Parts: sequence; C-alpha cells; structure tokens
Amino acid sequence: SKPVVAIVGRPNVGKSTLFNVLAGERISIVKDTPGVTRDRIYADVTWLDYHFTMIDTGGIEPDSKDIILSQMREQAEIAIATADVIIFLTDVRQGLQDSDSKVADMLRRSGKPVVLVVNKVDSFEKFMPDVYEFYNLGIGDPYPISASSMLGLGDMLDEVVKNF
Ligand code: GDP
Ligand code: MG
Repeated sequence: SKPVVAIVGRPNVGKSTLFNVLAGERISIVKDTPGVTRDRIYADVTWLDYHFTMIDTGGIEPDSKDIILSQMREQAEIAIATADVIIFLTDVRQGLQDSDSKVADMLRRSGKPVVLVVNKVDSFEKFMPDVYEFYNLGIGDPYPISASSMLGLGDMLDEVVKNF
C-alpha cells in the first residue's frame, strides 16, 4: 500500500493550507481561528512518480497553552502510529515555541522519519534569518516554505519521498 505522510504542528501554522495545496483541492478547512480541523482528513497525493496518502491532523478551538500542547501530543501520537514520514510544520511568524520543542523531542524519540518544515516564509530574503533558530529543535535541517504562495514545496517533497 501507499506510504502515509502526516502533518503535525501547532494551531494556525498552516497545516490545512499545506494539505490543500498538496491535495490540489480544498478538502481541509482553513481559517484564521486556530484548530478548525475537526477530524483527521486524508488525501491521495502524487509527486513526480511517487504516490502517497496524506493526513491533516488538528483539534478543536484550543484556548490555552496546555490544551495546545496536549492536542499536539495527540497529533504526534497518531502520526507516530500511522505515518511512514511525519512533516513537522512550524511557523516563522510565530517563531519557535516551547510546545514545538516538546513535540520535537517526542518525534525524535519515536525514530520515525521527520521532515522539519518552516511555513509562512513568503519572502526568502526577508524571513530566512528567522528560519535558523529552528535548528535548535535538533531534528535536522529546517525546510522553508510558503504554503499559500507555493514556495519551497519541491525541495520539501524531495526530502519527504527520500524517506519512503
Ligand atoms: P492550521 O491550523 O495549522 O491548519 O492552519 P491553517 O491552514 O488553517 O492556516 C492558518 C492561517 O495561516 C490562515 O489564515 C492561512 O491563510 C495562513 N497561512 C497558511 N499558510 C501561509 C503562508 O504560507 N503564508 C502566510 N502568510 N499565511 C499562511
Ligand atoms: Mg487545520
């Protein structure tokens, strides 16, 4: 069967936006309100000669740091259990957060292949200096993308499919 790729990350980093861009249609709900993905959502994706199933994870309206972290842990557990490759999505505008570090530790311990992706890098010139702090997560090179402007997606996907 096809490899499974799961997207994990804080509310509002752009998981559903990335999912929709890769799925080529608007399947997952994107909103300014964090945590609008109510359930796991699946799509079949083709990249070059590769076919895989992608999972968007999310939660419901987190309103505190504790709830955000517990939702992220839950997403990460689902991803560790079901995915062949995990895209750990972060946001250059929100910057590196404590919950990112905690979830990165969980993912690292799982031994699953993880691709660290930094979203909302809409201008490489303007935002690249802020991407480097994500090296501190200790899960490898951060791949800068802009899901909404479709920048950096080829390099990111090359890295994802290397792990199949
Ligand atoms: P999720 O909660 O992680 O699923 O995040 P969403 O996909 O719902 O996106 C949250 C917000 O970030 C929405 O307002 C998106 O339009 C916005 N967004 C997503 N990707 C980008 C991007 O590459 N650049 C910018 N500037 N905004 C983005
Ligand atoms: Mg979402």
